[in-house]
Amino acid sequence: MVKRIKHMAVAVKDVDAALASYQRRLSVGEARRVDWPKGRSREAHFSIGEVEIQLCESMDQDGRFAQHILKYGEGVQHMCLVVDDIEAAIAEATADGATLKPCSACNITGSHAHSEGFVAFLAGQAVPGFELEFMQVYTDEDRPAQYATGV
Ligand SMILES: [Zn+2]
Repeated sequence: MVKRIKHMAVAVKDVDAALASYQRRLSVGEARRVDWPKGRSREAHFSIGEVEIQLCESMDQDGRFAQHILKYGEGVQHMCLVVDDIEAAIAEATADGATLKPCSACNITGSHAHSEGFVAFLAGQAVPGFELEFMQVYTDEDRPAQYATGV
């Protein structure tokens, strides 16, 4: 079902300071800066091997990353897993007792379109240590027109 880790979203207080630490300590190169008003976050994305790290700072105290920091301190807010078939992945997880939660950016529960693929979020820590997002990455055939550029 799960093919690989797509990204790890890390809740940070200050995305610029966090990125500087990653660049200094891990020799991370240039990051892609993403200001995402819909998600109310400022982000820096870069890869370590095949895994994308997304450093995410909420733009306000009600944001999901600010709320994560209040509860747990800075750290991984969720892990995104690439799946072949998102509806099958959801069915398998919910059959095992997991529940879905609304996407905090879109307020949609269950599979819906984001820029890179169809995504869904599971409630709470669906496995010990991690909140989970499933992503069925678009193919050329199923990519919605609004995400034609892939970004
Ligand atoms: Zn969404």
